[in-house]
Amino acid sequence: MRQRLAERVERAVRERAAAGGDVAVVIPLGRTGAPGSEQDRSCDRCGTYVPVGTELLMLVFAPEPWLRVVGGLCPACWTREAGR
Ligand SMILES: [Zn+2]
Repeated sequence: MRQRLAERVERAVRERAAAGGDVAVVIPLGRTGAPGSEQDRSCDRCGTYVPVGTELLMLVFAPEPWLRVVGGLCPACWTREAGR
């Protein structure tokens, strides 16, 4: 997940610079899809599908003051990440 985050941040930095620089950006960490779809409800750490009725926990990183990266974690990965 950290490698994917680094790649997404690097890409956002390039795209922001190409767009002129002075904008705030929000990007997804992982796969996206229609709301409630398998892609939309997959854990961004382990890829496990989290069915409706089980909480998909939102994760927000701010690797730059102008950038927010959002993702979702299954309950098991949330426990591992939050336990650090
Ligand atoms: Zn997970």
